[in-house]
Amino acid sequence: MIFDSHTHLQFNAFENDLNDLVFKLKQNNIYLINVGSNIENSIKSIELSKQYDFMYSSVGIHPVSVLPQESLYDKDESKEKIDETKQVVDNNFEKLILNEKVIAVGECGLDYSYIEHLNLSEEEKENLKQKQINIFKDQIRLAQKHNKTLILHIRDLYKEAINILKQENFTQKAIFHFFKGDKDIVEEILKNPNWFFGFSGIITYSDSLNNIIKMIPLSRMLIETDAPYVSPVPNRGQRNDPTNLKYIIQKISTILDVTMQEVEDQTFQNAFYVYNLENLTNLR
Ligand SMILES: [Zn+2]
Repeated sequence: MIFDSHTHLQFNAFENDLNDLVFKLKQNNIYLINVGSNIENSIKSIELSKQYDFMYSSVGIHPVSVLPQESLYDKDESKEKIDETKQVVDNNFEKLILNEKVIAVGECGLDYSYIEHLNLSEEEKENLKQKQINIFKDQIRLAQKHNKTLILHIRDLYKEAINILKQENFTQKAIFHFFKGDKDIVEEILKNPNWFFGFSGIITYSDSLNNIIKMIPLSRMLIETDAPYVSPVPNRGQRNDPTNLKYIIQKISTILDVTMQEVEDQTFQNAFYVYNLENLTNLR
């Protein structure tokens, strides 16, 4: 059994052949969580996950959703329609968390990479960064309040994000999705037993993360596709889907010199633990 700890089957990319894909996922015993990146696609994720017992959902606002609409054309998650006026954490957002298929808050976090390139004054850029920090903190507080796991999208700003989690006294579990940090960050994350690493298809593109992966016990790792994006080799460049997890499993098993079965089983168990699904057998 395999668990895709971060995917987006509610996105438009799967509109035309979702039934065929669902059939393959059942055949391959793949569980998954459809991660929300704005209000609209969080709602879509809940609607979809309600239909299948092997799908779960999260509710979240991606850090790039604070950017002006016209700057979003090239950002993966925001190819989905974003109504900027709705990208605030409000009562409706909190109500969504109460749905029984919602097992996490996020993806949320910090990503200034697009802000730097905008044609804005320094003050306007600072305002956008502050807005990102604010909606990140709102989501941390809601995850803490409702005992939900936090799915983190952090681009470069690992130290800043970790400081915010500490300031907010966040004690629930958290996943550093799409992990690309360095050795110091790995050591820092390993200190907190509630913090986990999500590895995506990018680990198959080169060997640059091999030494990072070797530092991390398998018990702290999750695997993810982030589909429809970042297909692993040999399907790089094509639409990604959770059946490609086998290539990520294969790469980790080679790096750690363990069997693929071991990686599959351990990361599945980890996902059930991280998302607090062990006590929710009635949902299976
Ligand atoms: Zn994502």
